[in-house]
Amino acid sequence: MAIYNTSSDSANTAVRALLTKIGEYYLGRSFNTGSGKGKKDWIEIRETYFESKCIYCEENNLKLQIEHLIMFNRKEYGLHHPGNIGPVCSDCNKRRRDENKKFLNWENHLKQICLERNELDSFERRKAKILFHINESEYKYPNLSETEKHSIRVIANSLYENIKMESEKSLALYKELDEAFVKN
Ligand SMILES: [Zn+2]
Repeated sequence: MAIYNTSSDSANTAVRALLTKIGEYYLGRSFNTGSGKGKKDWIEIRETYFESKCIYCEENNLKLQIEHLIMFNRKEYGLHHPGNIGPVCSDCNKRRRDENKKFLNWENHLKQICLERNELDSFERRKAKILFHINESEYKYPNLSETEKHSIRVIANSLYENIKMESEKSLALYKELDEAFVKN
């Protein structure tokens, strides 16, 4: 739990909750990777399809974490959905950035990791395996139209701004009440 909480933190959490709900809407059920069917899905994706290896570096690592391929935030608006997750090691879980400090998409992130490890000859094979998971496996990610993607961005940004504004309003209200009591 973070000790210093900003209004952006709560706004970002609200956006992730929305991306989770939309992902579940397409999946037709809940997707909690911590219990029940969602947990079974995560174990199967991690251990059966990706053979308990990191999807980027292919190291066998006991501590594999959940990676959202299309980033689960206001950079890429990826949904929380089985077709958008894969296991990664802690090093590959740090999304690489380009020269302008912008996060790379998963494909360029994969390329960068292959480059760092001198394994560029494995790039196309690893990419194809991930693409199969996203587009063709039983967990395939919803094929969103440009309009749908745009709508998700607009709604997520509006939610983000509203939550931030509510935090500011609450502070203003507190100051107003505090002042009223001090004056009386
Ligand atoms: Zn890795």
